[in-house]
Order: sequence, then C-alpha cells, then structure tokens
Amino acid sequence: MTNHLFDLTGRVAIVTGGNGGIGLGMARGLAAAGAAIVVVGRNEAKSNAVVAQLTQGGAKAIAISADVTDKAAVDAMIARTQSEFGGIDILVNNAGINIRKPPHELALAEWDSVIKTNLTSAFLCSQAAYPAMKTAGGGKIINIGSMMSIFGASFAPAYAASKGGIVQFTRACAVAWAPDNIQCNAILPGWIDTELTQNARREVDGLHDKVLARTPSARWGIADDFAGIAVFLASRASDFVTGTAIPVDGGFSVQG
Ligand code: NDP
Repeated sequence: MTNHLFDLTGRVAIVTGGNGGIGLGMARGLAAAGAAIVVVGRNEAKSNAVVAQLTQGGAKAIAISADVTDKAAVDAMIARTQSEFGGIDILVNNAGINIRKPPHELALAEWDSVIKTNLTSAFLCSQAAYPAMKTAGGGKIINIGSMMSIFGASFAPAYAASKGGIVQFTRACAVAWAPDNIQCNAILPGWIDTELTQNARREVDGLHDKVLARTPSARWGIADDFAGIAVFLASRASDFVTGTAIPVDGGFSVQG
C-alpha cells in the first residue's frame, strides 16, 4: 500500500535542466520510482550521458536538446515527448542560472536572461504541457524556487525576483488548474553543492562557511537530497497538496 502511493510506473516526467545538479538528483529519484524520464538541456553531450546512466539503471529515458527560453523549442520538446511516450504526467521546471551582481551593476540584458531562464521558462513549459495533462485527467508540475524566494541577497537581484515570481506563478497555476486535477508545487532548495554554487563560492567571499554556520543540519545539500521530495510531489501521495512552496534546506530557513 505504501509503495503504491509513491509508484510512478507508467508515468512520463520531463525534467528541465535534468542533465546535472539538482535536476539530475530529481531525475534519478523519479526514474527509481518507475517514471520514464525526458532529460532537457542545451548541452547534448551532458544530457546523453545522463540518459545512458538512467537506462543502465533500468529506466526508460530520452534526451531532448532545447533552450527553455525559446517558445518554439519548448513546443517541439512537448510534441516530441508526446510522440515518444504518449503523454506527459509530470513536469519539473528546474532549469536555472544566476548572474551575481548588485542591482546597480546588473545590465538589462543580464536581468532579462535570468528572468527568462528561471521564470519565463516555467510559464512556457507549463502552458505547453497543460493540454496533455488536462486530456489525461491530471498531472503534476514541480517548480524550483530557492531560499531567494524568501530572502534577499545583495548579489542576486534578478535571481531573487525570478524565484519570488516562481512561487507566485506556482500558486496561480495551482488555483487555475485544480479543476483539471493538476497539482502545482514549488520546492525551495537551500544551499546545494552543484556547478551553480561552485561558481557562487568562487565569486562570493566567505559563502561556504556562512552557509554552514547558518544551516542547522551543518552541511551543504547534495543533488540526491531532492529525489524524495520530487517523488512525493510527482506521485499520488501528494494528490491533495497544491500551491505549496516546500523548503528542502537542512533547516536554513527556520534558523532564528
Ligand atoms: P546547475 O547549474 O548544476 O544546473 C542548471 C541546469 O539548468 C543545467 O542542467 C542546465 O543545462 C540547465 N539550463 C540552464 N539554462 C537552460 C536553458 N536556457 N535551457 C535549458 N536548460 C537550461 O544548477 P543547480 O542544479 O544548482 O540548479 C538547478 C535549479 O535549482 C535552478 O533553478 C537553481 O536556481 C535552483 N537552485 C539551486 C540551488 C543550489 O544551491 N544549487 C539553491 C536554490 C535553487 P544546460 O547547460 O545543458 O542547458
């Protein structure tokens, strides 16, 4: 009974940015629970390597190269998923970037690039996936926010705006699509050891130790910390959970 609640056999999951970092941690979790995985990213070699890893583990998986800021590419990615796997049950909007500068130094083009990659992409992918989910009688959308959905940081004006926006976008979709049995939730990762934060640690003095000092669990997170929450939010276990923003942060956001 318990296993059945989390069983994703026969489900199809798209994970944008699934070729590395947190996206890969979620893709591995979803695949282990039985879902077929569509790995989406721009770097074809990285995506193909992940597909090889997932299929070696017994999962069905394909890679689709797409820039998620490009509406035509997103529409083609959705169409190809449907033709390969016959539907879309789970969409994980995870692709993201940061450009670390204070607000007075950030160029408009940099602002646009971060907002498009982190926020507009979630709109494009969700809107494109919606008809298939509606027709199938339901679906699960998981958007990736951040501690910057809650807190500010001097070096992340566009990033924080995009991640705050993700939470509100999640709530809007949750309300709009509840009648279609589509649950939309956000995950707010704490500080996780990935390529993104390896760069941050190079660029922001003292970041590594500041994070450790503030995190009650006394460690940086790892990509595999996201397997369980992804399976929960993608499965029948979360059918009455919608519009939430769940921190996965080792207690970072509740530290007084
Ligand atoms: P990584 O840099 O390791 O991964 C980012 C992923 O996004 C890559 O797979 C990349 O693939 C993909 N991507 C970026 N731009 C595009 C694009 N235009 N089109 C398609 N894919 C794209 O970062 P993380 O794993 O750390 O981050 C994943 C998510 O988690 C992001 O949304 C990030 O903001 C969020 N997050 C991360 C935290 C952390 O501490 N690491 C904390 C809070 C939130 P490719 O290069 O092949 O396109």
